[in-house]
Order: sequence, then C-alpha cells, then structure tokens
Amino acid sequence: MTEPNKPAFFDVRMQGFRERATVDAVLALLDARTRVLAVEVVPVLEAAGRVLAEPVVSAVDVPGFARSAMDGFAVRAEDTLSVLPLRIVGESLPARPFMGEVTPGHAVRVTTGAPIPSGADSVLMAEFAQRDADGRVSARAPVVCGKHVVRVGEDVARGREVLPAGRRLRPQDVGLLASVGAACVPVVRRPRVTILVTGNELLPPGAMPEGFRIVDSNSPMLSALAARDGADTLPVRYVRDDYDAVRDAIRDAAEGADVVLVSGGTSVGTEDHAPRAVAELGELAVHGVALRPAGPMGVGFLLKRSGEVVMGRMGDEEGNEALSPLHPFTPSPLLFLLPGNPVSCLCAYDLFAGRVVRRLGGRSWELPYAKVVLPIAEQIRSAVGRVDYVRVKREGNAVAPVASGGASNLSSTVAADGFVLVPHNRDALAPGELADVWLYDK
Ligand code: AMP
Ligand code: MG
Repeated sequence: MTEPNKPAFFDVRMQGFRERATVDAVLALLDARTRVLAVEVVPVLEAAGRVLAEPVVSAVDVPGFARSAMDGFAVRAEDTLSVLPLRIVGESLPARPFMGEVTPGHAVRVTTGAPIPSGADSVLMAEFAQRDADGRVSARAPVVCGKHVVRVGEDVARGREVLPAGRRLRPQDVGLLASVGAACVPVVRRPRVTILVTGNELLPPGAMPEGFRIVDSNSPMLSALAARDGADTLPVRYVRDDYDAVRDAIRDAAEGADVVLVSGGTSVGTEDHAPRAVAELGELAVHGVALRPAGPMGVGFLLKRSGEVVMGRMGDEEGNEALSPLHPFTPSPLLFLLPGNPVSCLCAYDLFAGRVVRRLGGRSWELPYAKVVLPIAEQIRSAVGRVDYVRVKREGNAVAPVASGGASNLSSTVAADGFVLVPHNRDALAPGELADVWLYDK
C-alpha cells in the first residue's frame, strides 16, 4: 500500500529522467521545509562565529566608573586656565584608585584606565604637562573640561541592546559580550551533517589512486564546505554499491543528523541505488534537476525525529531573516543526493545543500561568495530550460569559461576564480554581456 504523501517511485536507472525540477522549484521547496534549529547556550569563549539566537542587553554600564584615557594628571580644568602650578597629591592606577579628593590647585598622577579621582574632571596629558623643580605640574595649554575622561557608560550604557538576534558573532562581538559580563550566550545549534560516500571504486582520502580505483575527493570537499557553512560534520561513512547496504547506510547516517549528504549513486546507472533507498525510507521529493552539471541531484526527507523545538523565522527576499519567538517545529533529517562527479557534487552542494545547512544554523541562506558584475569575455553556451553552472576565470576585467570544464574534472574548479549561473531562459551569454559572477575567494 502506498503511504499518503508518498509519490510513486519512478526508477530512472538505464531509462533517464522523465522530467527534471527547475532550480527555482527546488529552492522554494527547501525554503518551505527548513527552519532554524533550536537554541543552545555556549560560553562566550566559544561563541565566535555562532549565530546569536536572542538579543543581548547589557546589565551594566561600561565603563562602570569614569576612567582616564591617557597617561597624565587628573585635574580640575579650570585650574589649568591659570599659570599657577598644581601640586601632585597622589596617584591613581588601574584598579588602584586615589581615595582622596582633588581640590583646587591640586592634581593626581593617572595612567590609562585608572579611575578619575573625585573632584577632578579632566586629564592633562603627560606630553602637555610641565614639571617644575618642586615636582609641581602646570599645563602648557588650558585643558578643556572632560578632556581624556571616559564617561560612565560611554562604551555601553546599561539597558542597551548590544547585539541583535540573528547576528553571526564576529571576534569583536564576543569581546564586547565579555565586556558586559556575559558568561554564556544563547546561540543557534549547529546543524549536524553526515556525509555518506557511495562507490565501489573509491579509496579513502590519503590513499594513492591505484589500478581502477580512484580516491574519494568528494568527502574532503564536502566536509570543508559544510564546516564553512557552520555545520558540525560527523565522521564520513562509506558504503558499497549494493541496494540493501545503501539503504541501511542511509538510515544509519540519518540517525542524529540534521542533514545527510550522499555522494554518488544518484544517476541512471545500474549501481545508482540511493534514490530508491530514499523513496523506501522516506520521501524522495526531488530527483533530477534542470541544472548542469548536477542534473541527477536529488532531495529527500527522512522520518521525523521526535519533539525538538526550533526557532521560527521570517525571511525577506535578500535572505536576511529576523528571529521570531520560539515555536514548535519537528525537523526531519534532510537528505541530498549529490552526484559523484566532483564538479556536480560541488555545484549541488553550493546551490542546494549549503543553503539548507546555512539556514538551519541561522545564517543567511545566500551563497557565501562575493558577487560581482563582470562582462563575459567569450560566448558561454547553455540551453533554454536549464541552469548552467559555468566555472570562469578572470581575464583582465572580464571573465571567460575555464577550458576542460567537464563535470569529472575537479581541476576546472581549482583553476576557476568563480562561477556564473546561466539562467533557465537563456541559451547562451554573449561576449561583452554583463553577468553576475560568484567568486570562490572574496
Ligand atoms: P556516480 O554519481 O556514483 O555515478 O559517479 C559519477 C562519477 O563520479 C564516476 O566517475 C565516479 O567514479 C565518480 N565519483 C563518485 N564518487 C566520487 C568521489 N567520492 N570522489 C571522486 N569521484 C567520485
Ligand atoms: Mg557511483
């Protein structure tokens, strides 16, 4: 009996795809079926790079006391209008304040960061101070009231929101969090990604290619991509090209994972078992995308896990999102069938899987590459009805397609500076035409 919502499985092996989903349709499906993951609390020292799940409001003023911004002398500004030298009555050092009062005609030696003693309102910089034979000090020029004094709350005022929800924490952000006394912060849980590699021909990374066996280049690449997108990658798993083994491996890989990346075995060859296995285990929502070179890509949803609460989000068209209050949503592990050809694998990850990984982790779902607009140096051929991912190289102020750009040649992506996506409705991009170019390096 067919389960509800479960489309009949069409086996493409040795037949070819009957129809392919458009890139836009797949993106819409993914966006509709992914949510930001639940919140976890981490120590500030581990928070850099994480996405803040709730705004942080400062409970304190920073600084909590008026302090000197310079080495010099704490003075009453009006005393520096006269030529009379000031008598130094003590010293204020960081965390060792001068306990007395600065009365007219007096000054206190201060260092940067030291509390300003009461009675003083300004700091005379050491460079502008003149000492006399009696050890007294006078100003070479009058000091403006408040000069070189950092006011209470000048950096952060108590009650201020120092960082908003959704912020990916920069190094300076975690510094600021520490300065307001935050010990732990609520962040979005990292998506857990499992990589499952299919292919009898594969040797693990680190081995030398030998005879008819090649080295798995997809899992090192995918691990790095997922880590870049904020994932926790679980240990890579390998499975031989055997239906039962692939099905069981997919089921096991989904355990504890938010996203499963299956490399290879998703096309129309007799050994391409993954699509049928996904259809058996859950829902094969997409198989075949109008995209070159990642046409055999697939998307599946496995059985739901029980009761995890995640954040709801409202997104705008730029991919920026605002966190909304917690609401219950039970995620099901998402599975991507990535073609084994390494270029296809990279393309399918970046366009689809990476978007989901980034979004689950609370990041913007946009491609994490710099987008520039550059003219095309040579014609780029494509076909109406599909999107083409074309590796390009900079040539002066233009870009040209990388030669030897076959989907099995990973070196084409190493030679490339970035890529162009030829839209669905275009059969070519003409020389001189301006195109959006995504640069692998910023
Ligand atoms: P498949 O998608 O399994 O049909 O594989 C398509 C092509 O990609 C074949 O030439 C495979 O040998 C190659 N391939 C599959 N998996 C990998 C991998 N992990 N690393 C490098 N090449 C691969
Ligand atoms: Mg294979």
